[in-house]
Amino acid sequence: MDSPMVSIVAPMYNEGSNIYFFYERMTSVLGKLNLNYEIVCVNDGSKDDTWERLKEIADRDARVKAIDLSRNFGKEVAMTAGIDFCMGDVIIPIDADLQDPPELIPTMIDKWREGYDVVYATRIRREGETRMKKLTAHLFYRTIRKMTNIDIPADTGDFRLMSRPVVDALKQLKEQHRFMKGLFSWVGFKQTSIPYLRDPRHSGKSSFNFWKLWNFAIEGITSFTFAPLQLFTYFGVTVSFASFIYAIYMIISTFLYGNPVPGYPSLMVAILFFSGVQLMTLGIIGEYIGRIYNESKRRPLYLTREVVGAVEEKQSVEY
Ligand code: UDP
Ligand code: MG
Repeated sequence: MDSPMVSIVAPMYNEGSNIYFFYERMTSVLGKLNLNYEIVCVNDGSKDDTWERLKEIADRDARVKAIDLSRNFGKEVAMTAGIDFCMGDVIIPIDADLQDPPELIPTMIDKWREGYDVVYATRIRREGETRMKKLTAHLFYRTIRKMTNIDIPADTGDFRLMSRPVVDALKQLKEQHRFMKGLFSWVGFKQTSIPYLRDPRHSGKSSFNFWKLWNFAIEGITSFTFAPLQLFTYFGVTVSFASFIYAIYMIISTFLYGNPVPGYPSLMVAILFFSGVQLMTLGIIGEYIGRIYNESKRRPLYLTREVVGAVEEKQSVEY
């Protein structure tokens, strides 16, 4: 019987300074496994020499497959592209900056052999990251969990093992707005987690900032729930009810006590407050409509410029 094949998927954006270290460390871990493996690297429109270096490695080592996207599509899409090119029985997306320790892979594979379909790695410490990032990340996970019905495990990145059935399920989710953490959880299957220490970046700079994380959170929320829209239904009902009571009070006080109807300040506050609420609601509706618009265009998720050593599984990209 053939031994199972492991596919590693690494999205890369300006990782030229990390790529050799990544390759060395990866192959030294995978070499000890006595399994077939492939390392699928996706160059996500890097501005540095990532692609040149990647190609060089892929030319030298047949187990390394290199995919060059036509421009920067973002990590989620780059990862999806990589997954489309994978041939393995188990697939492991991993960051190319060595923040996710490849040394965890043997443990993940053991868990897979025990019968789990998804083995995700949960961070118990984040080194070299600012307090701000830790706090925002913390809030992010809690908010998403509270707002959506999908149980997205906290402090879990994209570093995880997935079995072939999970990946095939994932490929059936053809949405343009790909909130991968959510999609991973949505598909279900038998899941387990292993704890790990998240290392600082090997070198280079994280491309994430607060604004990106904020947009990421909006992406997560709008991809999995329309609770924000519903929220304003209830808010509207409450306000209508309160204003009805207030109207009765006004009528009575005018008739009984001859109230001369003062109240420019309260009028102003009410108008401004509710204009704000209405604009905000419009904005929230807009977030959803914009996504409907994007989905309806049915554009391909990504375009490739060059592929070295890999064949795309065609059926998976007919979006
Ligand atoms: N990445 C990518 N495209 C992007 C941004 C990032 O493929 O537009 C890759 C990057 O090369 C790395 C992984 O995604 O392998 C995680 O990126 P980063 O380290 O910047 O994020 P963080 O670790 O801070 O969450
Ligand atoms: Mg990183």
